[in-house]
Amino acid sequence: MSNLSALHFHNEEAAYAYVEKRLWPNGPVCPHCGGVERLSKMQGKSTRVGAYKCYQCRKPFTVKIGTVFEDSKVPMRLWLQAMYLIAGSKKGISSNQLHRILGVTLKTAWFMSHRIREAMRDADPALFGGEGGVVQADETWIGNKPGVERAKGGFRHKMKVVSLLDKNTGRTRSIHAGEMVPNEVANIVRANVDRESVLVTDEARHYWKVGTEFADHRRVFHGIGNYSKDGFSTNAIEGYFSIFKRGMRGVYQFCSEKHLHRYLAEFDFRYSNRSALGIEDTERSDHLLRGVVGKRLTYQTACARA
Ligand SMILES: [Zn+2]
Repeated sequence: MSNLSALHFHNEEAAYAYVEKRLWPNGPVCPHCGGVERLSKMQGKSTRVGAYKCYQCRKPFTVKIGTVFEDSKVPMRLWLQAMYLIAGSKKGISSNQLHRILGVTLKTAWFMSHRIREAMRDADPALFGGEGGVVQADETWIGNKPGVERAKGGFRHKMKVVSLLDKNTGRTRSIHAGEMVPNEVANIVRANVDRESVLVTDEARHYWKVGTEFADHRRVFHGIGNYSKDGFSTNAIEGYFSIFKRGMRGVYQFCSEKHLHRYLAEFDFRYSNRSALGIEDTERSDHLLRGVVGKRLTYQTACARA
């Protein structure tokens, strides 16, 4: 029996029940008026699966309202399959693979993938680190910016990513750094890392000044081994970059600058919910399901950013 043989992946009633149990742990909530009483499940042959009626505001609703599933005709059981597959794959799943596995059109698969990435986006703005905390910061370059000529030995034609890794929680947060303006990396570090933390970076000059604002700043000199004198390293964040780059090259192949933040959310989500942290496939997929709320993404906005 594979995990994908569970009933909620194949039966629409069971799929809705699975989602409702997780998004409404204390019972249904009317998304129109916030009511929790005088709600009843609509019955009858012609009724849509998962439909409720609120007798306070007299409006119908389903658990899809206010989530990334809203306005989508894709059956809930296929959403659950797609989320399980994307959350559980090491390097991601291309829209083309999803299209073949689920039997939906390529366009639908593409749109589902982007909505699922939106659900993966960490909406928690809490700073990384804190007193006694250690945060690694590093940057990498990926892909090619359209219209920017490849300069020999330079990075101007590539997209820049700054990632932070909280050593205590094992979580990562990655930010697409738009332009190479002075202090941009420093500002990203300031906006995301608690000043009480120890900041660990490589020897790059743009960390020197911001480093003085933290409890401590340990610099790793790659020229002379990968550790600072007292044993700090940036190995974890470099390991994260290698997973990210293998996935982007091997699975996604092409990513436009406008979508990069969503792919970063996907890789951060998987890394921050990885099995080495004790989070296994079903739990990871449930974390993802809780992320669908409040992140409605319409087709128009998805395309406008395409
Ligand atoms: Zn209501």
